Amino acid sequence: MTITEKYIKKIIPYLCAGENEEVETVLVNGLLSYKFPCPFCSYFVNNPECRNRQLASLVPIEGSYDYKFICKRSGSPECRRIHGGRSFYNFLAMYNPDLFRQYQLDLIREKKS
Ligand SMILES: [Zn+2]
Repeated sequence: MTITEKYIKKIIPYLCAGENEEVETVLVNGLLSYKFPCPFCSYFVNNPECRNRQLASLVPIEGSYDYKFICKRSGSPECRRIHGGRSFYNFLAMYNPDLFRQYQLDLIREKKS
């Protein structure tokens, strides 16, 4: 498992719509892709049914073990689509700064070893 995959597993429980909702997974290029309600723009939607639609996803980038974040609604500055999606690195920095700091340390540690 790569460091990125390890951190995706850590944040997936936070990305679920509600207690009984599960993050939907789809296999893309042999890697898991995850679908969930967008943590950035779902709050702006008043209709609860629309709010919990799983419009955001973490998708594996072909030919690498990296992931990108895409929100189909693009309803907030954080999830607006730039160059076809944000890197997982940027996504984590915005979504969970504490976990992001650990992620950075792990990446540095991996480079050294
Ligand atoms: Zn969004």
